Amino acid sequence: MKLYNTLSKKKEEFIPLEEGKVRMYVCGPTVYNFIHIGNARPMIVFDTVRRYFEYKGYDVNYVSNFTDVDDKIIKKAIEEGVSSDEISKRYIAECKKDMAGMNVMPATTHPLATEEIGGMIEMIGTLIEKGYAYEKNGTVYFRTRRFKDYGKLSHKNLDDLRSGERSLLVTGEEEKEDPLDFVLWKPKKEGEPSWESPWSDGRPGWHIECSEMSKKYLGEQIDIHAGGEDLVFPHHENEIAQSEAANGKEFAKYWMHNAFLNIDNRKMSKSLGNFRTVREISEQYDLQVLRFFMLSAHYRSPLNFSAELMQASKNGLERIINAADSLKFLMGNAKSEEMTENEKAAYAKTDEYVKAFENAMEDDFNTADAVASVFDLVKYSNTTADAQSSKEYLKLLLNRLVSLTDVLGLVVDRKEEMLDDDIEKLIEERQAARKAKDFARADAIRDQLLEKGIILKDTREGVQWKRA
Ligand code: AMP
Ligand code: ZN
Repeated sequence: MKLYNTLSKKKEEFIPLEEGKVRMYVCGPTVYNFIHIGNARPMIVFDTVRRYFEYKGYDVNYVSNFTDVDDKIIKKAIEEGVSSDEISKRYIAECKKDMAGMNVMPATTHPLATEEIGGMIEMIGTLIEKGYAYEKNGTVYFRTRRFKDYGKLSHKNLDDLRSGERSLLVTGEEEKEDPLDFVLWKPKKEGEPSWESPWSDGRPGWHIECSEMSKKYLGEQIDIHAGGEDLVFPHHENEIAQSEAANGKEFAKYWMHNAFLNIDNRKMSKSLGNFRTVREISEQYDLQVLRFFMLSAHYRSPLNFSAELMQASKNGLERIINAADSLKFLMGNAKSEEMTENEKAAYAKTDEYVKAFENAMEDDFNTADAVASVFDLVKYSNTTADAQSSKEYLKLLLNRLVSLTDVLGLVVDRKEEMLDDDIEKLIEERQAARKAKDFARADAIRDQLLEKGIILKDTREGVQWKRA
């Protein structure tokens, strides 16, 4: 299996640290809003990587954090007049709902930064002891030049960085020994969440969070560290510096980065106001369509989000679901049980599609080609399965199809449509719950309906609903 390593800028053969096991860390979102479809890209891509490793029989320990202490969370909390904790808890719960909708498997562990502060303080202490960090007025900085390999991931030269950084120097940072030094711990400002430490009441820098959580849940050395390409510098470069300086060994063997998702050919960003949340998309499409769309491109190619491409993805997914449906229907009506010799030969031919699928995935997770092999199998199934086929043949074909779509995390079962009467009944129950101020129950009903593709709108005339 080959994967592209940002560290060497080459595709490399994957050799696990421990046979049969994969230790993998994926930087998760900062939780101050619903996740947007850009955030969904690494979630879907690396979930698919994980699924492929599992398909190959690896035992995968998959860790992905939630950054639940950050300036943006604090800002949002102040705007709403609630605690930071309330904001982060709310959006972690919402993020998990979106992940479930996209069929992203829960991580083995989803650590929260705020629950790991003790370990971060310890790691910062080790860095100070080893001379890699220093404290000034309650702030702790990493002594970047002390770490000889700095720049090895982003392939940046320290002196180029230095001239760039100098012009970026912000006030209050003159106390740094070197403009390249970055923050490990910072003292709190009035009203901010804070923790006691030997240096000040304050909170950790963002980079140290991942170094510590990765170490705690996966050990000092891991196989794969992943995230979006914007994280290569400075986040991942700094993680390497911290972890390797503190632990004295190579941190991650392979660094994988997904390219960005653009929207209507422009960078999608909060500041441009052109970002779309996964939740908004779920009102228009089944989130399986979003997943299919993401996998229709190679993860290292930029991907453009547009209504046309989503429509094409919807049609593509529909073709696969139709083929699975048709196999199930034929199975229910099959006249013979066991395969004929001809069918055995016909089934053996599908090995070729499985091989092509695996070859695509083993070539740096080329999901675009893997999807093409699934279509080839669909076509083959549509042309060879009919009312004369044996139940065994149909079943084997269906199993093959499902084993490949499972790797992609695509569910090929048609969702049962909810009857109007059932929807109305649930809406009445929700109204009753609201009246009784049981908002948890009311929300649960809304989510239950949303899962079935039913969107509620509260209007002055009462509750209206529509199908996504
Ligand atoms: P953040 O919450 O900004 O830290 O982002 C969480 C994850 O989403 C990181 O791995 C980012 O690299 C990734 N990400 C953010 N925006 C995009 C985008 N437009 N396309 C692809 N990945 C993104
Ligand atoms: Zn990280």
